[in-house]
Amino acid sequence: MTVIDNRASRYTEVAVAITCPCCGAEFDATLFQFGHRVRCQCGVEIEYPGALQRAGHVLTQGDVEVTAHEDRCIGCLLGSACGDILGAAVEGWSASDIRQSFIELRDFLDTDRGFGRYTDDTQMTLALAASLVEHGRVDAEPVSAKYAEFYEPRRGYGGAAHRVMRLLQAGGDYRGTGRLQFPEGSFGNGGAMRIAPVGLVYRHADDKMLARAVEDALLCTHVHPEAIDGALVQAKAVAIAATTAPESFDPERVVHVVSRTCRTEIMQAKLRILADGLRHADDDLFVIAGVGNGIRASQAVAAALWAFLRRWNTPEECVIRAVNFGGDTDTIGAMAGALVGALHGTAWIPARWHDNIENGPHGRDEIVALARRLAGLNLQGD
Ligand SMILES: [Mg+2]
Repeated sequence: MTVIDNRASRYTEVAVAITCPCCGAEFDATLFQFGHRVRCQCGVEIEYPGALQRAGHVLTQGDVEVTAHEDRCIGCLLGSACGDILGAAVEGWSASDIRQSFIELRDFLDTDRGFGRYTDDTQMTLALAASLVEHGRVDAEPVSAKYAEFYEPRRGYGGAAHRVMRLLQAGGDYRGTGRLQFPEGSFGNGGAMRIAPVGLVYRHADDKMLARAVEDALLCTHVHPEAIDGALVQAKAVAIAATTAPESFDPERVVHVVSRTCRTEIMQAKLRILADGLRHADDDLFVIAGVGNGIRASQAVAAALWAFLRRWNTPEECVIRAVNFGGDTDTIGAMAGALVGALHGTAWIPARWHDNIENGPHGRDEIVALARRLAGLNLQGD
């Protein structure tokens, strides 16, 4: 038996495809479990290769197996946390201020929250993921309660978000809190920053079902069309990344597909700048000047997507560039990290980041456990 594309993972072995030794037919390795046999169409019985060895790790019967999709889910959540932590130290800085201080910021820095501590972006992502695995889908009421349950004031939430979380904790109606600050709702990126788990779970859903899940995930904080659309574009991009083999990734096709999903003119205009940027090989400075890097959903989502489209094949550099664009750096970094993690899994995450992600309550080990459970969900309608 030949195991092809035996992709590395930070956690255990990921065998992507297994070929029949008789007729050469290929099987998705995620169909196999330890000790299981699958009968090929040619009649030969194929058994999962139970003792693959890579990087000194041998799988044994008692190991928890990580499938290729699980590895992408773990990579997506950990990648997002890494971008958030890296960017948190320079949130609100301009690109030139970051360059003057660090040339290029590549390592976590100590902040007043502590070294390796994530911000509201990761905290709300984990709350959304936890609600998804508990209820098996996005449901606005329990999701809102979960945000309030996870809320810690020192995680860098915006002023309006503090009020919303406190109101929800006090039993406020989740259907009204999204209009607390402005009657039309906030157009900020606080919905897009946390939406990656929805992209993973609804990766095969149609756009209507995906949009409904995004709206429900955002309802208690973001009801403005721009905020919803930014989150929808990010969720769609995560879904595409999670279902695309890295070797066949095509950035121009991704822009095309998310443009069809996108529903507002302001987001469409940003996506046109990204498409032009790819076509003309524009530099980062030019594209980011065009789309912006602020707290508006359309700006931050476009900036993160640009980092991904330009550097999808060098994931660590993608996250570093996203943060070094300046502006809302933790959010742009988190969204770029979610995208490259969904595409590549975990193997790319450098040890200096991975090993320094906080690991107390709701820390790294819990993030991995949550991602494994997310991987079991695949919602695609009736
Ligand atoms: Mg933040």
